[in-house]
Amino acid sequence: MSNNNKMSLTAKILWALIAGLVTGVIINNVLGGVSFDLGITQFTPQTFLVDIFHVGGKIFVNSLKMMVVPLVFVSLVCGVCSLSDTSKLGRLGGKSISLYIATTAIAITIAITLAIVIAPGVGAGWVSDATLTGKEAPSLGQVIIDMFPTNPIAAMANGAMLQIIVFAILFGLAMVMSGDTGKRLTNLFEDINTINLKLVGILMNLAPYGVFCLIAKLASTIDIADFGEYLAKYFFTVLGALFIHALVTYPTILKLLSGLNPVLFLKKMKNAQLFAFSTASSSATLPVTLETATTKLGVDPKVASFTVPMGATINMDGTAIMQGVATVFIAQAYGVDLTVSDYLMVVLTATLASIGTAGVPGVGLIMLTMVLQQVGLPLEGIAIIMAVDRLLDMTRTAVNVTGDCMVSCIVAKSEGEFDETIFADPEAGVKEENIDLEVHKA
Ligand code: ASP
Repeated sequence: MSNNNKMSLTAKILWALIAGLVTGVIINNVLGGVSFDLGITQFTPQTFLVDIFHVGGKIFVNSLKMMVVPLVFVSLVCGVCSLSDTSKLGRLGGKSISLYIATTAIAITIAITLAIVIAPGVGAGWVSDATLTGKEAPSLGQVIIDMFPTNPIAAMANGAMLQIIVFAILFGLAMVMSGDTGKRLTNLFEDINTINLKLVGILMNLAPYGVFCLIAKLASTIDIADFGEYLAKYFFTVLGALFIHALVTYPTILKLLSGLNPVLFLKKMKNAQLFAFSTASSSATLPVTLETATTKLGVDPKVASFTVPMGATINMDGTAIMQGVATVFIAQAYGVDLTVSDYLMVVLTATLASIGTAGVPGVGLIMLTMVLQQVGLPLEGIAIIMAVDRLLDMTRTAVNVTGDCMVSCIVAKSEGEFDETIFADPEAGVKEENIDLEVHKA
């Protein structure tokens, strides 16, 4: 069987995305407002089709999410067990957390600078009249306490990623210290890990259908009229900052800190970015990000199993960018002058807010209340930018997962846990994706 003459999974997903977009736009324009009187009820074809896409898309996203907890827990336990030197764990943590925080601070600085230069909100003349209550920032002490689960099963049931990470590390360390008993269990965990990865591979092959449904639903319900003049300016400023960060900041940092080829890196990221874009959830994309980091980029699984889930939880550069632009935009639109110390406060709070943002659709916007409140801006500005948030959410999620993989590559390279032959091979990880279902058909 040759894979060369078959369309790659990335190409299939891209076609599904385009087909979904075209289908959605046609439904929106041809069927929008059409409804038939069936006597006992009204039949609205647009709603009917949107419901079908909703079911298809939801099943796809749910099945990806289904894999997150088992994958993170089992692969992290395997990762800890295979670390010959356990002090490495502390170094891995230190390096990845510092890089995650540094890249987020750079992201938000770019966002604020671009928003000040472009000034998307100047002249809007909005007047604040409502009072909304925002989200309170938790204290640092509480954030650290919350990382330690009182009940690991509850942590898994709630998908509390940092708690799962802490439990997996402790459990893995105890296994290493348990001699033969631990070794027996290690074999079992490795088998479960292989099966988990197989299931992820199977789900990835179904992605084109899921992506089609997600995009068709979005395109058949989106309203272009939402894009008023100022909102359009805001939209493109965020988009501009996201692209600068993904195409300039990441490649520069990657080249400087690891010497790896950034063009090759970005090419290999395509699949994970498409998943992130379609699902708008770095948490749902986690299985794909993990697969990309290990099989395509060459990050050793014992490093990736630690850095990738941690990144999907605390590293949200794209989200910080949206929050930076949104804060400046809302200040401009309401005619509020921000001082230099206000801007510094925005950098600090948005960095913390993006750490606390869960990797699910739209949460970045909720966390924005924290940032606005910190500098005394009207929270109802959020209700206005919400109108154009979905597409930005999709794009910033793609940036978020790119950041996770970039940091994983740098950390792995610096620890000597990086396979350069995998990284240099453009076909690495691609064949496996297309083989999974073939095996099942055989
Ligand atoms: N959707 C983003 C993510 O999952 C979070 C956000 O910005 O709302 O990474």
